[in-house]
Amino acid sequence: MSFADLGLSAPLLQALAQLGYPAPTPVQQQAIPGVLAGRDLMAAAQTGTGKTAAFALPLLQRLAAEEQRAGSNSIRALVLVPTRELAEQVMTSFRTYGEGLPVSCYAAYGGVSLNPQMMRMRRGVDILVATPGRLIDLFTKNAVKFRELQTLVLDEADRMLDLGFADDLDILFQALPKKRQTLLFSATFSDEIRSMAKARLRDPLSIEVSPRNTAAKTVTQWVVPCDKKRKTELFLYMRKDRGWGQVLVFVKTKKGCDELVGRLQAKQIAADTIHGDRPQASRLKALEAFKAGEVQILVATDVAARGLDIDDLPQVVNFDLPLQAEDYIHRIGRTGRAGASGEAISLVCADEAPLLAAIETLLKQTLSRDEEPGFEPSHRLPQTGPATGAPKPPKKPKTGGNRKVPGNWEGFDDFAAAKPKRPGNAPRPAGRAPRPAGKPRGR
Ligand code: AMP
Repeated sequence: MSFADLGLSAPLLQALAQLGYPAPTPVQQQAIPGVLAGRDLMAAAQTGTGKTAAFALPLLQRLAAEEQRAGSNSIRALVLVPTRELAEQVMTSFRTYGEGLPVSCYAAYGGVSLNPQMMRMRRGVDILVATPGRLIDLFTKNAVKFRELQTLVLDEADRMLDLGFADDLDILFQALPKKRQTLLFSATFSDEIRSMAKARLRDPLSIEVSPRNTAAKTVTQWVVPCDKKRKTELFLYMRKDRGWGQVLVFVKTKKGCDELVGRLQAKQIAADTIHGDRPQASRLKALEAFKAGEVQILVATDVAARGLDIDDLPQVVNFDLPLQAEDYIHRIGRTGRAGASGEAISLVCADEAPLLAAIETLLKQTLSRDEEPGFEPSHRLPQTGPATGAPKPPKKPKTGGNRKVPGNWEGFDDFAAAKPKRPGNAPRPAGRAPRPAGKPRGR
């Protein structure tokens, strides 16, 4: 199937040819005709599947076909996104695909001054990409009016709920015209998302391009058991040993990000961070420098886990496991994009066994383990695996307070109580991660 078969107009086909997209991805094949026909849509698609183009292309086509442009302070389409980074990225996609079309696009998000955004809105914007909080600010100041709005896109709806935007979304739903097209994209479909879709969508076309809660198949994932205090050393060793180029590294806390970057920079490695405490301008600068290849290691918290569109990123490293298992899927979605192959490596210490078990339960698979010689942990990483029956809660969780710990894991309490001892290697499940060709195991 070609893009032309989907009924896209000549200027869009030309833009796609220039970008070198060979053919529509599955989500594009399924979504574009329905969106062009004005249908509501509920799509289960994670980043990396081409979901942005799946809504951007038909929206651009529909808006360009109408003579009327957005009136002052008005918008004709609204794309709600969870993060500033995603807002920038989605806007850039619209501008790239819509080059040459008489459709304006603008992104409004928090963390930057409100005034320029209010000024820009005066001229009207055909497609506004916005984070919910900032949009409410603009709306309450009368800088945005919704009377001309035809289409609402909820991009990464699950993430918006995770980040606590449910109330903001309710306020916005009250303000938006009831008669509209609504497109909902979400990597995962929780019961909350399903009930939102039920309440807000009209007879939606339902598409699912990857089974629920699965990671991209093109990503090779494995776990490197290690001691917590040796993670930086191990990361530096693996980077050198395996000849990694640019790597996106995920760390649990902002403080952890800054510490790791400090240690990398002390070793003259070009590294930078993206996390919520950094001003938006610095976050964008770090991302741009990473994209331009000036920064080798980008260290991020989960704020950056979604919406980062970085071409050809072969490795993602989980320096810490995420507290929410679903974030693991989003994190590793930064590699193996649009069919390319990628590696997702998790450095896991004994404390993180419950988090690993939760991830394995979500993935319904046991992740391969591959210890690095010389870095075998002295605190054994307990055996883990997907939960088969009722979750087995820890007696005394060492991490995570009252957090529920789904999944199977053994020996956690033993570990907490016992004196550190030399590990017996945890039995390695089949399917051990391959070593890149031509990269001998260094010592
Ligand atoms: P997304 O899932 O929207 O985050 O897109 C992931 C990446 O796939 C982006 O870098 C897009 O530029 C790219 N992409 C989108 N559609 C296609 C396509 N049909 N062929 C090749 N690459 C694509």
